[in-house]
Amino acid sequence: MKELDRKHTATLLRNASHVLILGHANPDGDCIGSMVALLLALKTMGIQATAWAVAPIPLKYRFMDSLFQKPDPASTNSWDLTVCLDTPCRSRLEVDPALIPSDVPMLCIDHHRISKDEFDYVYEDTSQSAVGCMLYELFCDLAVPLSREMAEALYAAVITDTGCFTNRNTDIRAFEISVELIKAGADPGTLAEYIYLSASVDQLRVLGEVLESLELLSDGRGALMYLSDATRRACMAESADTENFVNYARSIFGVQVAAMLIEAEDANHVRVSLRSKERSVNVSDFARQLGGGGHPCAAGVTAHAPLAEYLPEFRRELTAFIDSLPV
Ligand code: AMP
Ligand code: MN
Ligand code: MN
Repeated sequence: MKELDRKHTATLLRNASHVLILGHANPDGDCIGSMVALLLALKTMGIQATAWAVAPIPLKYRFMDSLFQKPDPASTNSWDLTVCLDTPCRSRLEVDPALIPSDVPMLCIDHHRISKDEFDYVYEDTSQSAVGCMLYELFCDLAVPLSREMAEALYAAVITDTGCFTNRNTDIRAFEISVELIKAGADPGTLAEYIYLSASVDQLRVLGEVLESLELLSDGRGALMYLSDATRRACMAESADTENFVNYARSIFGVQVAAMLIEAEDANHVRVSLRSKERSVNVSDFARQLGGGGHPCAAGVTAHAPLAEYLPEFRRELTAFIDSLPV
């Protein structure tokens, strides 16, 4: 594994001729926006690029979906670099690792702590709010002009990961980069409409069910919500419709740790989202204890059990974590 700084990452990209771009399972705005922006930047540089996505792009990010292709290892064998964005380990990749060409060097660009031995090259910067910010700076080094589409994709990345500039990872750099993206054509109102004003009626119905499940733990310092696959189906909602529901639990006064458990479509595993309000309540430490990861204020785990089986165990673990925090 070779750890790169921004300058050497730029050189590696500049010397590539055909790049395969990958992201994480249940892709969010930072993942999708970063994949699209890198794809467009490479094409501008005269480098061929392919971005793979397995599942349909969620409706709110659909304005960026035309550039994605379904994984098809037979379509080309000319890749000379794979780039994983917003995905710190191979197990989090959306694409089945068996489909990824094994003889092509893999670069990981991420603001998560990267599992370094799983990649050939690593460009990590945990101080950045979004991978979109890292790419913006990389494109400046590469002197790639920002098109409106690139600016929109990067702006979507920044607002998603900063929670519209409200999360603890929001810093001056995120605002400064956003100003440049707006100057390059990203319209904040239009993008907010795509991403935050595009709920379906089914999504609001499923939100109602999720709010019904709300439980407070440890004298109101914890909030827990959950959704079974059966309830989601009964509401006709898609899994992607539940992104950010955990923030309703986090929004409660006095709640330090919020958790949301969503049973996956095979009803055989559960995706756990964890949120806190301040870095000193480090939910990524708790997530790592359970086999997951993430950032201090936003982390996640995947549990391999049905919801009904996992919920009591998780409730116990979460309560113990909250009770271990200084009051
Ligand atoms: P989410 O709650 O799905 O939005 O995820 C919040 C954060 O936790 C993201 O930064 C993810 O990288 C991380 N995360 C989510 N699920 C997992 C997982 N199964 N394993 C490791 N990290 C995860
Ligand atoms: Mn992400
Ligand atoms: Mn991210």
